[in-house]
Order: sequence, then structure tokens, then C-alpha cells
Amino acid sequence: MEFKYDKENIFAKILRKEIPNDTVIETDFSLAFKDINPVAPVHILVIPKGPYVNYDHFVSNASNEEVLDFNNTVKEVIKKFDLDPERNGAGYRLIANTGSNGVQEVPHLHFHILGGRNMGFMVSRP
Ligand code: AMP
Repeated sequence: MEFKYDKENIFAKILRKEIPNDTVIETDFSLAFKDINPVAPVHILVIPKGPYVNYDHFVSNASNEEVLDFNNTVKEVIKKFDLDPERNGAGYRLIANTGSNGVQEVPHLHFHILGGRNMGFMVSRP
């Protein structure tokens, strides 16, 4: 499958430091930062630094190091904000909106990590 990456998407601009972000964790391969329009007390976005449109694109093309680093960064965000229910946190929701039905606005892979309140039903009914 051919994936097309738009280099002018807003997260690409963040990675090139053309626009600012509120960084939570930065590694060689990943960036975690606060969502500019949070829908929960904790709303963090985790992105790989490489040019990947979505999760399928990422896991099909990224190196093991990038994949491991991305997953580890997600884990570190959960730890940093004390969200892990196994460690007395109150839990969280992990979301990757993908494509048009997923209502993905920014075409660079990102996981939303949402916490700090009860998130309600997974999706609203039509
Ligand atoms: P999605 O619909 O999953 O593509 O979500 C994109 C998310 O990116 C939204 O929650 C936006 O609030 C967030 N967002 C857009 N621009 C920025 C920015 N400059 N800094 C941080 N978050 C952003």
C-alpha cells in the first residue's frame, strides 16, 4: 500500500520547530506534547518523529527502534501523569483517529492519551 505524507501538516511543522509546542517528553524518535485544545485534564499527543501518516504506515515502514521508542514514550507519558490503574492511577483512554471515518484532522500519526476525568462512552451513537 502506498502512503502519501503531507510535509506541510501541522505536526511536521512542530517537528521542524517552525511552530511551538508544549513538550512533555522528547526522545530521538518520538515527541509527546500537550494538545492545544484539550478535551480532558490530561490530553497528551504522542507522535513519531518520522513521516508517517497513520499506525499502519508506521508499523509497516518504521525501524524496530522507532516502533519500540514510540511505544515506550506512550508508556512514559502514562507513568508521568500517574494514569496507570495498575499503579493506583485512575486510568486513561488511548485513541488514534485514522482516515476520514476515524475523523483524523492531522495526517501525521498521533496517539491521544486522555485522562483526569471519566471519559464516558467510547463514541457517541449516531
Ligand atoms: P485528530 O483529529 O486525531 O487528527 O486530532 C488532532 C489534534 O491535534 C486535535 O486534538 C488538536 O487539538 C491538536 N492540535 C492541532 N494543532 C495543534 C498544535 N499546534 N499543538 C498541539 N495540538 C494541536
